[in-house]
Amino acid sequence: MIVVLKKEATSEMVTVVVNKVDSLGLRSNVIVGDERTVVAAIGDERNGHQETLSSLPGVEKVVPILAPYKIASLEAKSEPTVLKTHDLTLGGGHVGVIAGPCSVESETQIMESARRVKAAGATGLRGGAFKPRTSPYAFQGLKEEGLKLLAAAREETGLAVVTEVMTPSDVALVANYADVLQIGARNMQNYQLLQAVGETDKVILLKRGMSATMDEFLLAAEYILDAGNQRVALCERGVRTFESHTRFTLPLASIPFLHERTHLPVVIDPSHGTGKASLVSPMCAAAIAAGADGLIVEVHPEPSEALSDGAQSLDPDTFVETMELCKRVASAINVGVG
Ligand code: PEP
Ligand code: MN
Repeated sequence: MIVVLKKEATSEMVTVVVNKVDSLGLRSNVIVGDERTVVAAIGDERNGHQETLSSLPGVEKVVPILAPYKIASLEAKSEPTVLKTHDLTLGGGHVGVIAGPCSVESETQIMESARRVKAAGATGLRGGAFKPRTSPYAFQGLKEEGLKLLAAAREETGLAVVTEVMTPSDVALVANYADVLQIGARNMQNYQLLQAVGETDKVILLKRGMSATMDEFLLAAEYILDAGNQRVALCERGVRTFESHTRFTLPLASIPFLHERTHLPVVIDPSHGTGKASLVSPMCAAAIAAGADGLIVEVHPEPSEALSDGAQSLDPDTFVETMELCKRVASAINVGVG
């Protein structure tokens, strides 16, 4: 159920609602919007509860949430969520651009990447320090040393650091250095990890599992929201299909579909979504045209030398051209990009 408070409701009235929700044995989650505050009451929805809550001071109405994902749904919050950290903004008429290598490999490589993507107009720096690799023999990442290099790159450039956390026991460590915690596709249904990042105050970039349905994707986001962190962005990074001309199949219809279901911003990853550098630019343009709130793009100073995902990484000059194209598309639909 959603308890919708009146526009003029005071914070004391919100507290009374929260206490009542808790005393009914339901879980409360306060969602503060620009216009008004709503309290999500999650648990057994009995009729009596609806009446009790409706009669509290400052309450406008109490409505059931039909979607299985309660806090993520547009029913709970109709205004789009805008996420900001450092200069990175996702949503609210702005397409945030996160760029950088698949993995942090060395100081020279990450500093050069950071300077080049910043100069091209990105506001977020990606780079994996803990890498989920298909083979145990492939490069696994520089771990804490990689996190330190990312923090140094932020120090110099001001770019927000976006990096993956793979296990609950690493959340505190990664959160110590990162601005955005990425949950990888392979971990989308690692519920303990979702709960652990839900207890932080970082922005969470949740990637869609490669075989996950939209409901499973939104319910994974719900785990993070339910744990108390409202700063979640959804990342479509492509799904497994029978098709093999691209690494994954990138469904851009996910963008308008998700916007019809949730207030959370939607980010597109055309690098993993296609697996081919030559396809990245057109997919960035198409994603913006389809209403994406952000892009995450792999860029490497020397793609042919990359320790991971070189084939899908743009070189810095191509990234400059991609950004130029993105700016033209964004201005045609009146949104900002970068
Ligand atoms: C990545 O961003 O480098 C990555 C491993 O992505 P995904 O989890 O989407 O495969
Ligand atoms: Mn990668």
